[in-house]
Amino acid sequence: MDLYDEIENVKNVGAQRKTALNKLNIFTVLDLIEYFPRDYDDRSKIKNINELILDEVNTFKGVVSNIPEIIKTKSMSITKAKISDSTGIIEAVWFNQPYLKNTFKLNTEFIFTGKVVKKYSKLQAESPDFEIISGNELLSNGRIVPIYSLTAKLSQKVIRSLINSVINDIVHQIEDFLPDDVINEYNLCSRKYAVKNIHFPESSKAFFSSRKRLVFEELFLMQMKLLQIKGIVKGSENGFPLKDIDTSEIENKLAFKLTNAQKKVVSEFINDITGKSVMNRLVQGDVGSGKTAVALICVYIMAKNGYQSAVMAPTDVLANQHFLYFKNILEDLDIKCVFLGGNLTKKEKRRVYDAIETGFAKVVIGTHAIIEGGVNFDNLALAITDEQHRFGVRQRDILTKKGTCPHVLVMTATPIPRTLALILYGDLDISVIDSLPPGRQKIDTFAVTDAYRKRMYGFMKKLIDSGRQAYIICPMIEENEKIRANSVISYTEKIKKDDFEGYRVECIHGKMKSDEKNYIMNEFSNGNIDILVATTVIEVGIDVPNAVVMVIENAERFGLSQLHQLRGRVGRGKEKSYCILVSNSNSDVSRKRLKVMTNSSDGFEISGKDLELRGPGDFFGTRQHGLPEMKIANLYKDVDILKLVQKAALKLYSDDPNLEKTENKKLKIEIERLFTDIQGVL
Ligand code: ADP
Ligand code: MG
Repeated sequence: MDLYDEIENVKNVGAQRKTALNKLNIFTVLDLIEYFPRDYDDRSKIKNINELILDEVNTFKGVVSNIPEIIKTKSMSITKAKISDSTGIIEAVWFNQPYLKNTFKLNTEFIFTGKVVKKYSKLQAESPDFEIISGNELLSNGRIVPIYSLTAKLSQKVIRSLINSVINDIVHQIEDFLPDDVINEYNLCSRKYAVKNIHFPESSKAFFSSRKRLVFEELFLMQMKLLQIKGIVKGSENGFPLKDIDTSEIENKLAFKLTNAQKKVVSEFINDITGKSVMNRLVQGDVGSGKTAVALICVYIMAKNGYQSAVMAPTDVLANQHFLYFKNILEDLDIKCVFLGGNLTKKEKRRVYDAIETGFAKVVIGTHAIIEGGVNFDNLALAITDEQHRFGVRQRDILTKKGTCPHVLVMTATPIPRTLALILYGDLDISVIDSLPPGRQKIDTFAVTDAYRKRMYGFMKKLIDSGRQAYIICPMIEENEKIRANSVISYTEKIKKDDFEGYRVECIHGKMKSDEKNYIMNEFSNGNIDILVATTVIEVGIDVPNAVVMVIENAERFGLSQLHQLRGRVGRGKEKSYCILVSNSNSDVSRKRLKVMTNSSDGFEISGKDLELRGPGDFFGTRQHGLPEMKIANLYKDVDILKLVQKAALKLYSDDPNLEKTENKKLKIEIERLFTDIQGVL
C-alpha cells in the first residue's frame, strides 16, 4: 500500500464505508492518517472490579462468567452478561443488541469502559464499550483513546481500527521532510512517531510532543510558502515627514465627539506616522464601532501635509458611501476627493486618473478599480483597506506598491486571530476599537419560523409607521448572481402587492448597474424608501442609522460572522433595533448557530463559535485567504509554536530561499504538493 492509494484499496473499506469516508473528505490513505482526532478519552487506568467508582465512567477487565441472557420486554430487549475478576463480579447490560449474546463467549476476557451504577445492591455497567483481549492491540480501552468527528454509518470503533491498521501498514513510508537542523534545533520528534502517537498516544507526554511536531510542520509549510511568495517584508524607513498633525479642525466637522476608543486609535496612528519606520497597522473594531471616522482623520492629516491617500472598499455601494461621506467633509476643507469604481466611462476615468497623477486629488476612494494598471499616484503616503477580510493578501500588496513604501492601515470587523494575522501580514501592529459610541442599545435578535411571517410583517409596519426603515435580506438560493437577482425581484413584487401595499419597497442586488445601486442606496439613505430588499451586496459597511429592522430570510444559509455583519447594519443610531432570523431548518447545527446569534452580540465570541461549529477550514476558507485548511494547528491557541516557526522559517529562507540545497529537497517537494493551486488566489 502507498500513501497516495485511494481509500477503497484499504482493507475493510467497502462501498458504504468509502462513501462515509469521502463525506469526511478522506479520499486517500494519506487523508486517512491525517484525519486527526478531535478529542481524546483517557481510559488508560484499568481498575479492579472492587475499585470501580459508582456513577462514573470506569475502565475494567474481566472474563465472561455466565452465558449471557436476553430479557425481552414489550419495547426492547436487554442483553445481560456477568463479568468477573479475582476481586468481584459485575453485570454488564446492553439494550436492543441481542446479537451480542454470541460475542460474549464464556470464559473469554474483555476490557470494558462505561458508567457503573448500583442496581438492586449489585454492580452494573451500562452499555459499556468493550474489546476482546486476545493479544490484539487495544484501541478503544485501556489506553488514551482517540475520538474522531464522525458522520453517519461510521463508528468510532471502525475508524479507529481502520486508522490503526493503515498506520501499521505504512508507518515505514512516513518520512521527515523538515530539515534535520530544524528538527534538532526545535527538539521535534520524528514524523513517524508523531503520526502514530497523535492517533494512539502511548502517554500524555507522547501526545504533546506529537502534537507540537505536527502543528509546527503545518505552520512551517505555510510560512515558508508565504515567504517564497512575498519575500521578507522589512520595516522600511518612513519617507513622509509631517509638519502639521493637529486634528481639531476635522474633529469639529464631525457630527459627534470621538469615543475614547477612537481617540486611542487616532493617537496610535499619529504615533506611527511620526515615527522612524513605515506604519503597518490593523484596526479591529466590531461592526458599528466607528472605524470610518478614524480613517477620515488619518486621510485628513496626510492631505494637510500634501500627501495622497487611497481608501479601498470591497463593494461598489460601500465605496460610494465612503466617497460621499469623505467628500462632504473634506472638500469643505479644500481637500480634493475622487472616486474610482467600475461604473466610470472611459472619459471620466481619464479625468480621475489625471487628477491622481498630478497630485490634484489628495484622496482616492474606490473599489479594486484603484489597483488597476492605469492608476498612478503622485505621492501616495497612506493606503487604507476597509473590510480587509474581503480582500486577498495580494490585492493589498498591489495597492501598497502603488506608492513608495506608503503607510498601511487595514480595517476589519472580523476578528482575525493573532496567529493568522501574523501569518498573513507579517509583523503588524493591532489597534482595537473596543467600545461602541454612546447611546447604542442592544439589538434584540429573534429566530423565528415561517409561521411568524404575518406577525413579523405587522411588527415591521408598526416601526415603519413611526418613521423608521427596514432591510430584508433574501435567501441566497444559489451562487448564481442572476438567479439570486430574480429571487430578490420576485420577493419584492410579492410583498409590495400582498403585505406592504402602500409602502415604499425597493430592491438592490448584484446584477444592477453601479449607478442604479448607488441611486437606490442614496434613496434609502435619504429616507425615501421604507423597506430595502437586498442580497448580501449590503453585507458590509452600509450605514443608514434610521434603519432599525434587519430581517434575514433562510438565515441558516449564512455563516455566523456574515449574520453578525448583516445584523450590524442596524443598531447604528440611538433607536432600539431588531434583527429577525427566519429559518425553517430543523437541523441541530442550524439551531445551535441561530442560538449563538440570539444570545451574543459580540463579534469576537461569535466568530469563535463559528470556528467551533464549522471548523477552521471553512471559516478561513480558501476563497477568503488563499490558505490551505488547517488540519491540526489552532489559529487561536498555537501562537507560541507559530513564533518558533517564524524564526525557523526566516532563517531557512535567508539561507536557501528556493530550497535548492540537498537537505531541503524533501521540504520543497512537500510545499509544492500542498500549494499547487493557491498562488493565483493570494
Ligand atoms: P464601522 O466600524 O462598522 O465601520 P461606522 O464607521 O460606519 O462603523 O460607524 C457606525 C455609525 O456610528 C455611523 O453612523 C457613524 O456616524 C456613527 N459614529 C461613529 N463614531 C461615533 C461617535 N464617536 N459617536 C457617535 N456616533 C458615532
Ligand atoms: Mg465600516
